[in-house]
Amino acid sequence: MSNLRFKAVEAAFQKKAAAVSAPAALTSDYYGTYVFNKAQWAKYLPKDTVKALTGVIEKGETLKRELADSVASGMKTWAIENGATHYTHWFQPLTEGTAEKHDSFIEYSSAPGSPIIEEFSGKLLAQAEPDASSFPSGGIRNTFEARGYTAWDPSSPAFIVGDTLCIPTVFISYTGEALDYKTPLLKSLNAVDKAATEVCHYFDSNVKKVFSYLGWEQEYFLVDDGLYAVRPDLVLTGRTLLGHESAKNQQLEDHYFGSVPTRVQAYMKDIEFEGYKYGIPLKTRHNEVAPNQFELAPIFGETNLAVDQNLLIMSIMKKVARRHGFRLLLHEKPFAGINGSGKHNNWSLGTDTGVGLLTPGKTPEENLQFITFVVNILLAVYKNNALLKASIMTAQNAHRLGANEAPPAIISVFLGSQISAVLDKLEASTSEQAIVMDPKKGMSLGIAKIPEVLLDNTDRNRTSPFAFTGNRFEFRAVGSSANCASAMLTLNSIVAAQLVEFKKTVDAKIAAGASQEKALFEVIKQYIKESKAIRFDGNGYCDEWKTEAANRALDCETSVPVIYDAYTTSETIKLFESIGVFSERELHARNEVKWETYTKKIQIEARVLGDLILNHIIPVATKYQSALLDNVYKIYQVYDKEKAAKLSAHDTATIEEISERIATIKTKVEELVEARKVANKIDDERAKAIAYHDKVIPYFDIVRYEVDKLELIVDDELWTLPKYRELLFIR
Ligand code: ADP
Ligand code: MG
Repeated sequence: MSNLRFKAVEAAFQKKAAAVSAPAALTSDYYGTYVFNKAQWAKYLPKDTVKALTGVIEKGETLKRELADSVASGMKTWAIENGATHYTHWFQPLTEGTAEKHDSFIEYSSAPGSPIIEEFSGKLLAQAEPDASSFPSGGIRNTFEARGYTAWDPSSPAFIVGDTLCIPTVFISYTGEALDYKTPLLKSLNAVDKAATEVCHYFDSNVKKVFSYLGWEQEYFLVDDGLYAVRPDLVLTGRTLLGHESAKNQQLEDHYFGSVPTRVQAYMKDIEFEGYKYGIPLKTRHNEVAPNQFELAPIFGETNLAVDQNLLIMSIMKKVARRHGFRLLLHEKPFAGINGSGKHNNWSLGTDTGVGLLTPGKTPEENLQFITFVVNILLAVYKNNALLKASIMTAQNAHRLGANEAPPAIISVFLGSQISAVLDKLEASTSEQAIVMDPKKGMSLGIAKIPEVLLDNTDRNRTSPFAFTGNRFEFRAVGSSANCASAMLTLNSIVAAQLVEFKKTVDAKIAAGASQEKALFEVIKQYIKESKAIRFDGNGYCDEWKTEAANRALDCETSVPVIYDAYTTSETIKLFESIGVFSERELHARNEVKWETYTKKIQIEARVLGDLILNHIIPVATKYQSALLDNVYKIYQVYDKEKAAKLSAHDTATIEEISERIATIKTKVEELVEARKVANKIDDERAKAIAYHDKVIPYFDIVRYEVDKLELIVDDELWTLPKYRELLFIR
């Protein structure tokens, strides 16, 4: 067998688990060694500097030049001692992933003779000006005015990758607009901190700060790298554009939590080892639902840091996969017919006094506070369900959402029976006595009786895109390849804006003479009523829900480019401007980027599909057809006409089927190319993306159907593309 596919299959079967160089030491011994964290500050920074830096990070004090100089000096010493020769500002442009441009530490010294020295000043730490013209900006930065700045984010620690010191930074334009995800994320965290702290003061005047927490669950696929190399669609688009389902896939439900295959086990161990060195608290690893699908999750942490750690681990996962003879697939839907990959964002808010605002409490006050936050979140999600969906929508994630396995493309909230019952009871009650906080009696409506631990909630609803899971909400619609910041900045922003409004309304009632209890009670009750349509505990996959959701006026749009319109409605613009997260100009610019990215992705897929069909599928099918024709011809040489017709009937039917399918494929590919040409002529980015969505994408399924049928009849030995059974079951 000369076919590349068989060589790859054979090689893949021979592979053994790679050795992992994890030390015998305890994890805690080397945890965080590549991070410039507090332990390193103590060693490398003067005491005053540590104090000032802590003030900047924890209290938002302004960063002075002398402080930057002092930090830079200590950071440089630490980095050089740990093998770094270069540094980079590490930022998160609107493309996926992160960007970096490495500069060496070397400078000419000012001394006579100008010898080379290692230099790193506060200025270099604090700000840089990457040649930013090639990052998407949605027109904010014309190329002739290409300047964009990166500025140090002291709240996320610097780290060393290989020989390079990486400094987490924001990325903004010359005129101050955000060109990245980190800038608006930090602004949203600030907004939610301020708004939530004020609301906390109804219950506890000691609260000074509220943190947003994120615990992501990263799903991914691994594919043998030899097989991957023979699939141009995987290489160029991250997903299979063709391929018939494997006879066995996930129907036996034997993969989830099954024993991890040895090659994969070694890989997981290696990622953990790497992740620990970067202070990423990786905690959980297991098989996922689909064959060759796995998951990795850390202990949750402060959102800004958790986002950076997720981006870092995604790049580590990619690199480490190569060492183990795998390729990592982070695409949301690499394979048709089996589960796609998401990245559940477990999100909560907590105070600097250590209280989880989404954790039912021990005291009536804490429980009323808990209900207050839950109800505000419900209303925020209800009012902004279209926006929240827009925040997670991409060309890739569209394959997953609504595809009868992942969360549906409608945002609803699952609360579970216990919390639902409490809200229903509150809604039905007529007196603020319901929330009177008498420590002896508790609350007469039983808010105080919310079980402290809901974590074992057995009625966890897996079909809900936004589910309460005991002490947090789990936003499950986020895509596996996404930067969590997009979802997190949106969620924190809508909740911040909602809390601001809540406080205003409650305070107005108090100013008009109501007691605080009465004011809170009335507004909470009103919010429970208003947000009812977002609550759904049923099966999110069934068709009845689609009808029901439409009746409830929830956003049911499925077209990706149209979904992005939610970013630029007058309500959204007002919301983001009111809390200082985005300006209108930024929102419009970012949508331009989103539409453009969408178009490009589909464009690339369409081209790859065309190439595969012309270079792989049709030649192979024709070759097989020709072999069959040859056989038929020979049968007629040997047997009489009647017998020959009988003996060759099967072959002739196949020959005809191949001809017909090839003819359909050719016509459809031509139509697809035509539709693309028409779309390409459109100037407006939104209209172009819609044309790609409406007129180009429909051909993908039509063509694929025919090709997958051919895969079933063509001689396996001739088929060049590794099949699903090989991609999914060899490891
Ligand atoms: P699941 O049962 O949903 O698969 P996992 O254990 O895989 O749960 O992941 C749950 C994630 O949620 C972890 O990252 C965990 O640290 C995080 N988490 C737990 N409690 C909270 C919380 N209060 N806020 C945010 N994240 C949390
Ligand atoms: Mg989960």
